Amino acid sequence: MKIFNEQHEMFRQTLRSFVEKDVMPHVEEWEAAGRIPKSIWPRMGALGLLGVEYDEKYGGGGADLLTTAVLHEECARSRSGSFAMAVGVHTDMASPHLYWTGSEPLKAKYLPAICRGEKLCAIAVTEPGGGSDVAAIRTRAVREGDHYVLNGSKMFITNGALADLYFVAARVERGEVLRRHEGISMFLVERETPGFAVGRTLDKMGMRASDTAELAFQDMRVPAENLLGREGVGFYEVMRVFQRERLVAGLHAVAMSSRALEDTLAYVRERQAFGGPLSDKQVVRHKLADLATRIEAGRALTYAALLRYQAGEEAVSEISMAKLFTAEMVQKVAYECVQLHGGYGYMREYAIERFARDARLLSIGGGTSEIMKEIIAKALLA
Ligand SMILES: Cc1cc2nc3c(=O)[nH]c(=O)nc-3n(C[C@H](O)[C@H](O)[C@H](O)COP(=O)(O)OP(=O)(O)OC[C@H]3O[C@@H](n4cnc5c(N)ncnc54)[C@H](O)[C@@H]3O)c2cc1C
Repeated sequence: MKIFNEQHEMFRQTLRSFVEKDVMPHVEEWEAAGRIPKSIWPRMGALGLLGVEYDEKYGGGGADLLTTAVLHEECARSRSGSFAMAVGVHTDMASPHLYWTGSEPLKAKYLPAICRGEKLCAIAVTEPGGGSDVAAIRTRAVREGDHYVLNGSKMFITNGALADLYFVAARVERGEVLRRHEGISMFLVERETPGFAVGRTLDKMGMRASDTAELAFQDMRVPAENLLGREGVGFYEVMRVFQRERLVAGLHAVAMSSRALEDTLAYVRERQAFGGPLSDKQVVRHKLADLATRIEAGRALTYAALLRYQAGEEAVSEISMAKLFTAEMVQKVAYECVQLHGGYGYMREYAIERFARDARLLSIGGGTSEIMKEIIAKALLA
């Protein structure tokens, strides 16, 4: 399924050489450190990789959604799920809140630095009490003069330890009884804001180069002009940006799976057993054929959702299906690719081992597979 034009492919070449030169040689070191050095962001900014769709007046590239898709495919080919995720959060899960709903002065103030990679972004929705039920957010915001005062905490925040700008969901309290999702509002919070604190950096199964942190807000005073969009409509904005996040997750799952399959093909061609290469055994060949078929199905579903979304059509079910299918598909690919590597697949020195740990997140983060099924079922039964 060919959806990219010549310009997209040229962009892909720029990215591929950047990833091969500036990312892949450092992945092990970043995994061990538990963080990606902040020096990577200005380098990406200089190459025009951090605001591909944003208006040129803010330092963006003014390109289309398919260019963004190329960005995420190539980042995910790096064999570092952490790197792909960190980029995805900055470009397509956090900063769209500013681009889509921020006031003009706020956009003029922050977007150029975001595009240049001088300010790293994080999105803070999930709380210790739950992530799937966004309407249950407990972080409170109370208006006091020309500020909102926020109290609460956030959990599992990607780029959480290192970010400069946090897009925080909080419930604005005005005394009246609200329906569960009403009152939720989005705020742009600078790291230096009094009352803001980064808590523990969390120790994870996979995505180990990505810093995942807890955040705490204690009487955190956020200027009222940092409210994004209208007060009380944040729930809908979170859901709107989730569509983009889930498309990116689908692209990640497919690209990570393709890379793992390529690595596995190379391995089974080389590895000898019972007098010949593993690739000669019919069971192995059929397994590879099965994985390739699943990956292509995931790609087709994701591209179809992407094209609908690009055309401005309602694509919530299609995006949820793509996220669900690819997040489950990558689990199968991870299991089988490790299996085909035998004992070596269980060793840290093989990238396939890291892939299997990174892949596990994809059916949890950005909306679990169960939540994707709920969304799809709701539309079916509407
Ligand atoms: C590494 C990592 C990075 C993350 N990065 C971010 C980030 O940058 N920003 C952010 O805001 N969040 C982030 N998250 C949070 C992530 O989005 C949540 O973990 C996810 O949405 C699930 O929420 P939860 O962990 O609270 O699980 P819960 O909501 O407690 O769910 C637990 C289980 O119950 C199931 N379940 C829940 N409700 C239902 C239902 N109605 N029907 C059936 N099953 C249900 C879920 O599917 C899941 O299997 C990250 C998480 C991880 C692990």
